[in-house]
Amino acid sequence: MITIKEYVNIKKKELCEKVSLVSKKPHITIVQVNDDYASNAYIRGKLKDVEEIGAISDLIKLPVTTTEEELLKLIDKLNNDSSVDGFIVQLPLPKTINEAKVKLAINPQKDLDGFHPLSKFLPATPKGILTFLEDEQFDFEGKNALVIGRSEIVGKPMARLLLNKNMTVAIAHSKTPSNVLKDLVAMADLIVVAVGKSNFLTNDFNFKKSCFVIDVGINRDSDNKLVGDCEKDLKVAYQSPVPGGVGLLTRLALLINLLEA
Ligand code: NDP
Repeated sequence: MITIKEYVNIKKKELCEKVSLVSKKPHITIVQVNDDYASNAYIRGKLKDVEEIGAISDLIKLPVTTTEEELLKLIDKLNNDSSVDGFIVQLPLPKTINEAKVKLAINPQKDLDGFHPLSKFLPATPKGILTFLEDEQFDFEGKNALVIGRSEIVGKPMARLLLNKNMTVAIAHSKTPSNVLKDLVAMADLIVVAVGKSNFLTNDFNFKKSCFVIDVGINRDSDNKLVGDCEKDLKVAYQSPVPGGVGLLTRLALLINLLEA
């Protein structure tokens, strides 16, 4: 099977060709109100991606002392700026700013992260995973999916998308008893794990040999190395790597959303 890195490079070339054919280049603005190490790295990656496909990006980096009112004012300006096709507000926000309020302030037509309930875009992580599985001809129909984690940006939208593909979907979370989780894992044809704990899924579970495991987790191990939620080399048919897996698919989906915008 093609690696996610190879897959993303092919898709980016396609997007680049599409951008070269339009007279008005797609324009994304990224708003950052933190000086978070991880956010800086994610944003660098996103800006690089946008440049690679020939679209336009700009970064508005505000001080962490920015008030909610100031941020909402900026969002209003971007909502009404016709030169900006879409924008994202990088999370996390300072504790003094209400995240839910910010998400609801973004014009759903420009909400490239798909955070607004009426957004015309799917959240990037589940969209990236689904697009990859579709392109790899994963056989969804009538199969069992297990989504572990029920966040608004990953678990819940992922489960809904898989349900729409006619899978039978179970969602596990922190209150799921371990014996039930074991049974759900053993039945699953596809597992999407988004928990945020390294070695959450190990070969102690009894996987179907044909199972596909998509590892969303991003964690640091004791050597400060990036690891997912799964032990390496699970006894399954496919396991997405970390790094070089879902992170790349998420970035790709943001580009697809930008072109759609
Ligand atoms: P959240 O912290 O919002 O959600 C974690 C989920 O895991 C919760 O639903 C929680 O359950 C569940 N959970 C916690 N412990 C257990 C347990 N013992 N058994 C079963 N479920 C459990 O995280 P996110 O969804 O935002 O992110 C999850 C991971 O994915 C993180 O590592 C994050 O960094 C990564 N991530 C990676 C992205 C990428 O592009 N690669 C994008 C987004 C996230 P409960 O609801 O009951 O608390």
